[in-house]
Amino acid sequence: MNISNSFPKTADIVILGAGVMGASIAFHLATRKAGKILVLDKDHVGRGGSGRSSALVRMHYSYPPEVQLALISLRMFEHWQEVVGEPGDFRKTGFVRIVHPNEAERLKQNVEMQRNLGVNVELIERQQLKKIEPDWNVDEVELAAYEPDSGYGDGAGVANDFLNRARELGVTYLPRTQALAFRVESGSVCGVATAQGEISAPVVVAATGPWTRPMFQFVGYDLPIETEFHQVAILKNAPGMKGGGCACIDSVSATYFRSDAHDKFLVGDFYGQRPIDPDNFPQRASDEGLEELIERACRRVPKLENAEVMRGVTGVYDMTPDSRPLLGEIPGIRGLHVCAGFSGMGFKISPAIGLVMSELLLDGRGKSVDLTPFRPSRFAEGQPIKAEHEYKDD
Ligand SMILES: Cc1cc2nc3c(=O)[nH]c(=O)nc-3n(C[C@H](O)[C@H](O)[C@H](O)COP(=O)(O)OP(=O)(O)OC[C@H]3O[C@@H](n4cnc5c(N)ncnc54)[C@H](O)[C@@H]3O)c2cc1C
Repeated sequence: MNISNSFPKTADIVILGAGVMGASIAFHLATRKAGKILVLDKDHVGRGGSGRSSALVRMHYSYPPEVQLALISLRMFEHWQEVVGEPGDFRKTGFVRIVHPNEAERLKQNVEMQRNLGVNVELIERQQLKKIEPDWNVDEVELAAYEPDSGYGDGAGVANDFLNRARELGVTYLPRTQALAFRVESGSVCGVATAQGEISAPVVVAATGPWTRPMFQFVGYDLPIETEFHQVAILKNAPGMKGGGCACIDSVSATYFRSDAHDKFLVGDFYGQRPIDPDNFPQRASDEGLEELIERACRRVPKLENAEVMRGVTGVYDMTPDSRPLLGEIPGIRGLHVCAGFSGMGFKISPAIGLVMSELLLDGRGKSVDLTPFRPSRFAEGQPIKAEHEYKDD
């Protein structure tokens, strides 16, 4: 086959990146028959942060639009078969949010706000938590938020399922095709340059995760996205440990953790190292790093002390100054959109992000959730997002 003949030269919408975001956008655009849609990935579907994700699904946010995005997404995870025609990997284990004891009032306010938005969440006391998770040490916990409907999923699976369904609906996918530069003329994007050739398009969306910033710097727009290195430990459950328990975000140990299938346990860190090259970062987690992480998680789950480390996972977050994504058109460049900066929290909202980004592109605004607060210019305008009852480590 002659590649130059089959390489598409035009599209109505080009999406860069086939992670959970690019694939979700492509799927939602395709369901609305939005014309000729092209997805390019410099690697393969799900091979970026999505395939390394711990993939916790929870509704607990302090900023209402994020709760809305998480809730819309949960409904899709719950009905995955109807949405994309595949069974999916969403596991409803339940989720617990533990905050610093001096933030209990904020926890109460946030739970109330979440309940008002329709989240199935309740405040529970120490004894109730001990009953749900007998393996956890909850001595200092007075209150926690408990979401019975949350749990975890699979990043690579979600990206693949969205993209496969999008392709069935007519989307073209080009793996191993790197966008080298945006083409801009008279204040409008008109396509992208790749090593295989130019593609003309009036609309381009970059869902390129930690690789996003340099691409926009070339066209004179600096998006404040920093790369951050993270390590995750996967352990074999110690003898006598309850399998399949709740996922948890625990401010006291500064770790998050969840069960992994019925016989394993996953632990991740709140904090990581910046900056890191997303094309050249350690593929193997360091022994010291994992030891320190597990030691902290042991304060909450003491039985982990006897759990054997099976492997580590490493990955890169795309962090913004307020830890919220940058969503929308770049000021001064019509048709050029960004969908990145998910700051280590994108998996759980990816189904809804695809939906609202498709609304933004086709209807001119996010209808299901207003995306204005997430506009890429908010930092330059001095308007980062700040929730009313934000936690110190939000
Ligand atoms: C270790 C780890 C743990 C996490 N845990 C959680 C969690 O528990 N819960 C949660 O909700 N989120 C979590 N996240 C975050 C979540 O996984 C990410 O926010 C989400 O996967 C981001 O998806 P994405 O599509 O934006 O980016 P990516 O999956 O990184 O996809 C970007 C894609 O763009 C492609 N690309 C880049 N540049 C170009 C170019 N120039 N041309 C063409 N293609 C290009 C890349 O190859 C890549 O496939 C975690 C992330 C990591 C790394």
